[in-house]
Amino acid sequence: MKPNILVIAGHDPSGGAGIHADIEAIQALGGFASTLITALTVQNSRRVTGFQLTDLDLLDRQADALLADYSFSAVKIGMTGSVATVEWIARLLARLPGVPVVLDPVLAAESGGALARENLSDALIDVLAPATTVLTPNLPEAQSLSGEHGVHAAGEALSQRCGQAVLVTGTHDDTDQVSNHLFQPDRHRHWDWPRLPHVYHGSGCSLASAMACLLARGEPLEQATGNAQQWLHQALKNAWRPGGGQYVPNRSPAP
Ligand code: PLP
Repeated sequence: MKPNILVIAGHDPSGGAGIHADIEAIQALGGFASTLITALTVQNSRRVTGFQLTDLDLLDRQADALLADYSFSAVKIGMTGSVATVEWIARLLARLPGVPVVLDPVLAAESGGALARENLSDALIDVLAPATTVLTPNLPEAQSLSGEHGVHAAGEALSQRCGQAVLVTGTHDDTDQVSNHLFQPDRHRHWDWPRLPHVYHGSGCSLASAMACLLARGEPLEQATGNAQQWLHQALKNAWRPGGGQYVPNRSPAP
């Protein structure tokens, strides 16, 4: 039996980020993805220009249908888009006790386009984070959620405030290597990766979904975090450019 991962995230029609990234990452790592799509975005590989949120009544009916039929081994949350959707997701998680949850606190696209209708920081931290296993902000998201500037200050503040593990990814830092830091209330660990030459679309989504899939397969948090980064690094090394903008990780299993 493949582990079934419930993905709650937005749709990117250009195929690089969002639900496409999530399904491809989960399939590449041996899982099966069920999806609740929080928003339809308007974008290509260059920029995001808008989005429309999914009606919560429709999400309710979709969630009821899935929960009546499937059991889930992990949940991955990406773009939420509004405080009301964050609150709706928190109510859904209460129906899935004991299931590991990876929360990628998406606020904006790599290109800078907004992916939230309002300020989501307090709702993500106070309403959703307590029900999650690990948060995976990139550095700008960690800064904006914590109000702190440095990687350590931001990661530690978030981990203390949420009482959860926080993986701060360093792609947006200006260092030669990309350092990803896992902060837990009583522990810290980091991984360094050679910085690759391009700007990538969907790397955060891919990493969070890979982690959810490996947690669903029973790997402990630190092992899942390391193995998901290893897998993503290969996908980024083999990335390709489908249009005139950002590169897309190659998440297909090797032929
Ligand atoms: N989710 C959606 C629907 C998006 O469109 C994007 C970026 O455009 C993201 C998440 C975040 O993508 P990334 O993994 O590049 O941070």
